[in-house]
Amino acid sequence: MKVTSSEIVISAVKPDQYPESELPEFALAGRSNVGKSSFINKMLNRRGLARISSKPGKTQTLNFYLINEILHFVDVPGYGYAKVSKKEREAWGKMIETYLTSREQLKAVVLIVDLRHPPSSDDVMMYDFLKHYDIPCVVIATKADKIPKSKWQKHMKITKETLDIDPNDQIIMFSSETGYGKDKAWSALKSFM
Ligand code: GDP
Repeated sequence: MKVTSSEIVISAVKPDQYPESELPEFALAGRSNVGKSSFINKMLNRRGLARISSKPGKTQTLNFYLINEILHFVDVPGYGYAKVSKKEREAWGKMIETYLTSREQLKAVVLIVDLRHPPSSDDVMMYDFLKHYDIPCVVIATKADKIPKSKWQKHMKITKETLDIDPNDQIIMFSSETGYGKDKAWSALKSFM
């Protein structure tokens, strides 16, 4: 998809702040520092729209981006940041759970993992959560440029096995550095619209 416009419409923490819109939504989830902001920016051809975090775990709001006036990306705060208090983590969990399990406009969750390493226990938990609630998802294995091509398939295999991925779910290799996988990622999202 050729993105010609993208803007943040609101940062929400509770349902009455979600945009009143019927447009399809895609939520972006991943552990802190996985490369989620970079993924969003690459998909939208924008450099600094989603803030590339110097302080991981900082954003504790759901950030809604309107794209081409036809869909929303919803940036979900990154999980697994150690320096967050138990209370903050609980508030985070509640906010995410409410959004993911009740938002009718949500078409799919884009779960971003790091192709270099096996998915973390938090990644596995997030994936299991999506499966449990029957929420469609696409897995993006990013930072592909950081490993040699000859090892891509091996890393993909480990990623799939660690998540125990449903064979019906799409998993796409990606690089925000080179743009590899961008067209595939857009096609995957479009298939849910
Ligand atoms: P977030 O916390 O998940 O939003 O992660 P960021 O997008 O801020 O990325 C964390 C770090 O990884 C930054 O230094 C990025 O420049 C880097 N990064 C993210 N994606 C890629 C990628 O595909 N390739 C490379 N080489 N670096 C990346």
